Amino acid sequence: MDQNNIPYKIYLSEDEIPKQWYNVRADMKNKPAPLLNPATMQPMGFDDLRPVFCDELIKQELDDTTAYIDIPDEIRSFYKMYRPAPLVRAYCLEKALGTPAKIYYKFEGNNTSGSHKLNSAIVQAYYAKQQGLKGVTTETGAGQWGTALSMASAYLGIDCKVYMVKVSYEQKPFRREVMRTYGASVTPSPSMDTEIGRKINAEHPGTTGSLGCAISEAVEVATKTEGYRYVLGSVLNQVLLHQTVIGLEAKAALDKYGITPDIIIGCAGGGSNLGGLISPFMGEKLRGEKDYQIIAIEPASCPSFTRGKFAYDFCDTGMVCPLAKMYTLGSNFIPSANHAGGLRYHGMSPILSQLYHDGLMEARSVEQTAVFEAAQQFARVEGILPAPESSHAIRAAIDEALKCKETGEEKTILFGLTGTGYFDMVAYQKFNDGEMSDYIPTDEELEKSFATLPKVNA
Ligand SMILES: *Cc1c(COP(=O)(O)O)cnc(C)c1O
Repeated sequence: MDQNNIPYKIYLSEDEIPKQWYNVRADMKNKPAPLLNPATMQPMGFDDLRPVFCDELIKQELDDTTAYIDIPDEIRSFYKMYRPAPLVRAYCLEKALGTPAKIYYKFEGNNTSGSHKLNSAIVQAYYAKQQGLKGVTTETGAGQWGTALSMASAYLGIDCKVYMVKVSYEQKPFRREVMRTYGASVTPSPSMDTEIGRKINAEHPGTTGSLGCAISEAVEVATKTEGYRYVLGSVLNQVLLHQTVIGLEAKAALDKYGITPDIIIGCAGGGSNLGGLISPFMGEKLRGEKDYQIIAIEPASCPSFTRGKFAYDFCDTGMVCPLAKMYTLGSNFIPSANHAGGLRYHGMSPILSQLYHDGLMEARSVEQTAVFEAAQQFARVEGILPAPESSHAIRAAIDEALKCKETGEEKTILFGLTGTGYFDMVAYQKFNDGEMSDYIPTDEELEKSFATLPKVNA
């Protein structure tokens, strides 16, 4: 297919917003391993999960067989506020690189929360409301997820309690104020409101918190407060499911012009945007219909796929959440303090972990100065100021396009541009001032953290 006359942006109509999510588990021969109860180490069923999650979301979490799940009309109406998201042909980047490669990116930053996270936030808030709940609790690190959930909760008129990692709460007042503007309560974590928060504060006086700790607090509050449930912004099967709107739209747009990508690239923190982007393509691959090279990009300072272990691990520091079998660095792993590029979670989506383990996708790690170089180059030619997380994917897309320049191959590259970086200017400042450094954990550090993996005979 001649790709010289493709529009700069391929837009779909409102009608073409997906009517169903695609559940890639239905086509996986090896299903992701079940969540385990941290107390008994037994697989968790519907009833075990009910105190923590909303009923409908548990059904989605446990459903390994239904390939297509209907998107309720009210959620599609909300999606219309910022979807369909454009699929952009990166003509300017191609030109700047002098590459024969054709580069496309799916841009998910076109909403106030600035990332793809809103795609799942609205779904989780919707099912909480359907169940007659008063509100939801969650954690947030840098703040994108908390912002997305605040927006969704405000739209639906339910309460939203966010536990925000203390260091971000103090250093990122803008995100915090966006959340409060949308009506959420934002508490720095570890707080003194929860048992686990008081315990962590007593054991580590002056601690600035971590995601794993904020998760434990949010779960504790959800399970102890009448009418509340906990919601999570990544990692879980249900979140990947909701994020398939990204991949379904991207595929529909490419299909309009008969374009088949050779390489699909996404950044991977907990794996939700990448899982959502690749799902429909992976489905074709799993069914033997087509083949794609699929690459997850993670930070060298938090290398879950490339250096982690495929094992059952805790999802949180307080060990209150179910255990998940995933590529993990150990729940005690905390990325180096100079790590500015996001994607800091110690584990990875069980679905993607299984696919990676089965050789159906690749993973690479990149260092943050190289990531910010790619971000800067992209911003200057394509105009969008990318989130540091998204820029991991940009780095890899540029690298692949440069390889094509050497070989003369006209590969088609699709990558996920998950969001904008307006709230990450402290990290950009470090880069612009030449003060950004790379940190790669040593094997000894990782071994220390692996030693704390729970012993599970599953
Ligand atoms: C949260 C976030 C990510 C990483 O999360 P995943 O679950 O791996 O998708 C990537 N990009 C942006 C902009 C984010 O906010």
